[in-house]
This record gives sequence, C-alpha cells and structure tokens, in this order.
Amino acid sequence: NKYLAVKEYVHGQPSDSNFELKTAPLSFTLKEGSNQVIVKNFYVSIDPYQINRIKDYSSSQKAANFSSQLGLGQRVDAFGVGMVVASVNPEFKEDDLVAGLLGWEEYTVVHPGTILNKITDEFPLSYHVGVLGPSGLTAYAGFFDVCKPNKGDKVFVSAASGSVGNLVGQFAKLAGCYVVGCAGNKNKVDLLKEKLGFDDAFNYKEEADLKSALQRYFPDGIDIYFDNVGGEMLEAAVANMKAFGRVALCGVISEYTGTGRRAAPDMLDVVYKRITIRGFLAYDHLQIYDEYISTTSDHLRHGRLQVIEDISQGIENVPSAFAALFRGDNVGKKSVQLNEN
Ligand code: NDP
Repeated sequence: NKYLAVKEYVHGQPSDSNFELKTAPLSFTLKEGSNQVIVKNFYVSIDPYQINRIKDYSSSQKAANFSSQLGLGQRVDAFGVGMVVASVNPEFKEDDLVAGLLGWEEYTVVHPGTILNKITDEFPLSYHVGVLGPSGLTAYAGFFDVCKPNKGDKVFVSAASGSVGNLVGQFAKLAGCYVVGCAGNKNKVDLLKEKLGFDDAFNYKEEADLKSALQRYFPDGIDIYFDNVGGEMLEAAVANMKAFGRVALCGVISEYTGTGRRAAPDMLDVVYKRITIRGFLAYDHLQIYDEYISTTSDHLRHGRLQVIEDISQGIENVPSAFAALFRGDNVGKKSVQLNEN
C-alpha cells in the first residue's frame, strides 16, 4: 500500500519536500471481531486545512484545536471515496461504495468509530468529496445556517471559484440574492460570470485598493460576506458591510502560510454597524445534513448546480495538488484519483 507521510513541517508555502511517499505491506485478511473495513480509495480530498496540521508550532502559534497536528512520519488522513474490498464489520460488505475519513493512500484500513458512510453511484463518485461531501456541506451550512440569507441580499464571496466558494455563489443565486465573487485570475473570473451565474466578479490581484474595489461592486453595501480568505479582504469587506450585515468566517487561507497579513478589521465599524462576524465549522451543522443532501441532489438532477472539479491523477501527485491550493492553481474542488473506479 502506497501512502503519504509527513516528512518535514511546513514553513510558508508547502511543497513536495514536506511529504514522503512510503510503501507498506497490507494484508486483506482482517481479524474477526476487529470490526475493521479495508477501502480501496478512488478519490481523496485535497483541503487547505491540512496545512494547519503540518505546520511547525514551535513558535507561539497553536494548531487550531479542530485539526490536531500530525507527527513526523505519520500518514496523512483525509476525506475520500472508495469501495470496500474487505470487511469484518457487519455494517459493510465487499463492493459497498463508501465516503468518509480515509487517507492520502491507495487503501485505508478503517477502524470502528471512524466516519464512513455508504453512498450510491447515482452521481459521479468524485462528487462525494466535493459538492456532495465536506465542501458542499460547508457551503450549504455556512450560507443558509450561518448567513441566514433573504431574497435580494447583496452577497460577496471570496475564493469564489474554489470548492466551497463556487457553491456558495450558486446557492446564493438559487436563493434569489445578488452575488459578486472575487478570484485570482481572469479565467476564474470569466467562469464565475459566464458559467456559474454570478452577477459580477473581479480579479482581486488586479485591485490596488480592495476597499474601493468593493465599494464599486457594492455601492449600497454588502449584506453577507462569505469569507474564505481572511487577511486584507476581510478588512475591506467589513468596511463595506451594511448595518446588521453578516460575515461567515469559513476560513482564512491567506493567513495559513504565514506570508499574508492577519486581518485587523476596524472593530468600531463592527460596533456601529452592528455586524455579526461568525466563525463556523461544517460538522457543527449536521442537523441539516439530510436537507443539504436532498436539496443539493435535487439541484444536480435538474441541472441547477454546475459542478466544477479539478482532479489530479496518482498518489505521487498528491503533494503538488496540495501545494496548488496555496498558489491558486486549482479551479473548483481539488481531489486526486488514486485508483480506477
Ligand atoms: P479552494 O478550492 O477555495 O482552494 C483554495 C483557493 O484559495 C485557491 O484556489 C485560491 O483562489 C485561494 N487562495 C489561496 N491562497 C490565497 C491567498 N493568499 N489569498 C487569497 N486567496 C487565496 O479551497 P476550499 O474551497 O476547500 O476552502 C476554501 C476555504 O474554506 C479555506 O479557507 C478552507 O480552510 C475553508 N474551509 C472551511 C471549512 C469549515 O468547516 N469552516 C470546511 C472546508 C473548507 P484564488 O485564485 O481565487 O486566489
């Protein structure tokens, strides 16, 4: 079984040298009573939060407590989709299609208590790491549960062509909002406007002053800011929020590599405009999981949601796929296909 392990902690931008491709023998004969399952991994998710688990925290900064730090030499676990190839767990049998916490490896031995759900093949299996997986739940829960949109709200989304961002924008359009997204290059901006139905979009890298850029796109202010990036964009968005505006803090990728500036929004602005800034984690919203899956599946069946995927091939390409997230080289959900399905 080939798997990726942490070789060196990340300082700044991640690269191939942070990971080591290792091989270990794998027996497909499981011990009766262990309740284990072996999954052949088809697609594994490539997620920004992983960087926060493989940073060197010798300095004062601490790992966010939702994502424990990985040890050197440790296998990287990650969300994925695959097929059961061996099982002594009565809930799973060979050939079951599953999604859950697997790993950056070709096969995963799943222990009882680990998240593992059966899925169907109604949709392409890769959707279960994206639109029907954690990114989809994050976008749906963050937008509907945290932002509580009203029809006609003016919505701004950052990293809008990314996995979570593109879905937030599409959900917002389906909810009757006015939506503007920002992204890091022209192709992404064109995609947002021409394929995903955003009302407008801009390349933030071409804006000398983010505050005035947002003022241009939202002359009457922003009702909802769905923040995927933090840093200066968060400051600029807060400065442009309407009274009683809502900011959903989904992630702060511009701050993960330690190269970007930490956000310092004007707090007096927050007070006087009575802005709500709320961080959230998708897994706190599992009470709407069934609603999210059925609504999203229905949108997919009726062609109301476009699915944007960016899939690399082969375990040896996982490190470069991961590094791509922090250079903005991905468009839509980044994943790696490890085995043919
Ligand atoms: P994306 O698919 O959006 O990929 C990351 C994107 O972020 C890149 O394509 C790039 O787009 C942008 N980016 C990278 N570096 C910077 C930077 N320095 N400044 C501004 N933008 C940058 O990833 P996800 O959709 O998976 O994740 C989006 C955010 O959501 C992340 O912050 C992530 O941590 C968070 N998240 C939070 C969850 C939760 O439960 N709260 C769950 C899942 C994700 P561009 O070209 O536009 O710069």
